[in-house]
Amino acid sequence: MTADFKDTIEPTVCRFNWGGAQVTTVLEGRIVRDAVNPPFALEKTEEELAEIGKANNIPGDRFEHVFVPTVINTGGKLVLFDAGFGPKAGAANGAGHLRSGLAAAGYAPEDIDIVALTHVHPDHILGLLQDGQPAFPKAQMMIGRREFDEWNSGANIPDQRRQNREMFLTHVAPFAERMTFLEDGDAVAPGITAEAAFGHSLGHMMYRFEGEGRQLLVWGDVTNHYVYSLQYPDSMVGFDDDKDAARVTRNRVLDMVASDGLLVAGHHMPFPSIGYVEKTSSYRWVPASYQHRL
Ligand SMILES: [Zn+2]
Repeated sequence: MTADFKDTIEPTVCRFNWGGAQVTTVLEGRIVRDAVNPPFALEKTEEELAEIGKANNIPGDRFEHVFVPTVINTGGKLVLFDAGFGPKAGAANGAGHLRSGLAAAGYAPEDIDIVALTHVHPDHILGLLQDGQPAFPKAQMMIGRREFDEWNSGANIPDQRRQNREMFLTHVAPFAERMTFLEDGDAVAPGITAEAAFGHSLGHMMYRFEGEGRQLLVWGDVTNHYVYSLQYPDSMVGFDDDKDAARVTRNRVLDMVASDGLLVAGHHMPFPSIGYVEKTSSYRWVPASYQHRL
């Protein structure tokens, strides 16, 4: 007599203490995309991708795309970084589990004091509305000034993002009156600072937490895959709205994170999406282990 096979079990919520704050990451969902190029490595052939996949123990012809918003409780403010796909688009996308993940972490939507957006792509903003109403009713909204202005004007938004611009108009623009517009170096909350990281979107921002001598960089979509973005930072990525600026930013941030030994929370890094970057001949993602407990 052998035991039955059970359902697989995978964690979807993670929380740890860091620098006098608490950091929670929530797996909003995941999508399997049936090609690597596009969106990644637009200049690479199928054979090259098969080799890269093999070297990294992942398939070279498809990939799993995860969506992982981060929450930081500074002790004074509960800050949510990005709002995910939300319930409607999420359901169609194998995502949309932010609210249930927050509930599992013990947070009600009205507990969120601040929602800070890295950028306006669908997997970061559609969760701002729930049944047409603000999903985080008490939250102060924050966004990079350039990011807001570019999507608001629309003049420089690439054609492939036309539908995304409509989403901006329905899901972000209505919050304009309660929004704080951030410049590089502006404070989000005590210990959290906004930093410009333009390229993936025209005004993409990232956020740095610092407390008790420890730091955490919430880098949003500076990278979109732990292998293709880090091992090939110069590679052309279909997701990037300004591809040249995105490559410059990716290299700059990866170099900074590796040199300074920063801990990172990455929206599209493998769950729980917390790790370090090691400089090799390019870069390598190093998942965090027990650093927060010692
Ligand atoms: Zn994204």
